[in-house]
Amino acid sequence: MESNVETQTKQADVIIVGGGLAGLTAACYLARAGIDVMVFEKSARLGGRATTQMHDGYSFNLGIHALYSGGEASEVLGELGIPHSGHRPGEVHVLRAGKLHIAPLDTLTLLRTDALSFADKLELMGIFARIAGQKPEEWRTISVHEWLERNTRRPQVREFMAANACTGVYSSALDLVSADVLIKRTQILLKNPILYIDGGWQTLVDKLRTAAAQAGARIVSGCRIEAVERVEDRVVGVRLHSDEIVRASAVIVATSPRDAVKLVDGGNYQPLREIVEPLVPARVACLDVALSRLPDPRYTVVQDLERPRFMSIQSVYARIAPQGGALIHTFKQLDPLHLGDPREDERDLENLLDTVQPGWRDVLVKRMYLPHIEAIGMLPTAQNGGYAGRPGSRVPSLSNLYLIGDWIGEGFLADPSFGSARQVAQLLLREAAAPVVN
Ligand SMILES: Cc1cc2nc3c(=O)[nH]c(=O)nc-3n(C[C@H](O)[C@H](O)[C@H](O)COP(=O)(O)OP(=O)(O)OC[C@H]3O[C@@H](n4cnc5c(N)ncnc54)[C@H](O)[C@@H]3O)c2cc1C
Repeated sequence: MESNVETQTKQADVIIVGGGLAGLTAACYLARAGIDVMVFEKSARLGGRATTQMHDGYSFNLGIHALYSGGEASEVLGELGIPHSGHRPGEVHVLRAGKLHIAPLDTLTLLRTDALSFADKLELMGIFARIAGQKPEEWRTISVHEWLERNTRRPQVREFMAANACTGVYSSALDLVSADVLIKRTQILLKNPILYIDGGWQTLVDKLRTAAAQAGARIVSGCRIEAVERVEDRVVGVRLHSDEIVRASAVIVATSPRDAVKLVDGGNYQPLREIVEPLVPARVACLDVALSRLPDPRYTVVQDLERPRFMSIQSVYARIAPQGGALIHTFKQLDPLHLGDPREDERDLENLLDTVQPGWRDVLVKRMYLPHIEAIGMLPTAQNGGYAGRPGSRVPSLSNLYLIGDWIGEGFLADPSFGSARQVAQLLLREAAAPVVN
């Protein structure tokens, strides 16, 4: 039930601010348990960073997106019965000095590749085995850079591991990011497939919205929440753009960290500012191109070894382009503390396409460039103790307010959006079931 706020009762058990994956997931869990829940999304369209834009039959996600199965995203989607069809990417190549080689990602490709010498291959095999046995939490105050220094000896192995690490942690600042992210992600990837989603990530958003609405959630899009209303240290509802108040027993904020801060006391609520101000987001530059045909079908997934760049032609695997056409995603991992010139990043990505898919400019249908886009609300840094330094869902000194999203709790990318949504929904359900003691 997606509708205009005018038609709604101005009261709910729980209000959710933000209609991205996190907000819609929490709405699903709560509505299915019989809670009267309202979701407010400021954009006309639901989905936040998981939206997909359609152009001439091409499904453009907001930059390169893959579902990393084995994490909380796939677990929660399964638990909620949200079907999704996805496909594994095929062979990965690495690019060094303008030449492409098979990427050594498992025993078979390790044996076949000419990117590494025999001695390099032995060292890499040892590293894969070591990562599988490492405890991520023991490395949380160590940066990825330091981890590489301690765990790799041979220059070409270190180069390979560093390039993969940049792609894996969505950042070229390997001296900043905690090694627990790299270890945990690699452990999951060694056991579980990556999936490219047919129709794009909007299909997940649409199915979550339908599931939540069918369970009775009231979903209002095109309606910005201006503020969270509080009486002393108790949150009592939200204020809409029209100045109307909608009352609720609990408010879940499912926005980015910076949007969350603006909602309480006009951005001046110190305990929330103290949580959000030190957070460093992961930023990337994405250049996605729709082509009427694919110039070279041999190289569909490419990891650059010399620069923090990655390319994937997801349309070869998932249904996101019309018959005969191709949709290529490229992205450059940035240093969030030293963002460079966006035009230079764009040229870098064009240059990657020129190398791997020469002739792409002649068959271009549509291009989408997203400079400095925030891929993750908070990068777990070594300085803050990795995942353990991520904020939790409660705001100090403020009751009835809960935070969810990709910056809350453990996990990377969309996993914590799903995970924190489930956790807060379950917490509220437990509290609702608890007997009131007078
Ligand atoms: C380039 C890129 C690549 C990515 N790749 C991957 C990937 O491969 N795999 C993966 O798992 N994840 C990936 N992600 C991350 C994933 O997209 C996000 O983690 C996820 O979509 C976040 O969902 P969310 O609901 O937590 O936040 P958001 O999607 O940011 O949703 C927040 C919502 O709150 C709304 N809002 C804000 N303020 C207000 C207000 N005052 N009133 C009402 N509404 C408000 C916003 O409009 C938005 O819709 C990628 C992201 C990007 C940008």
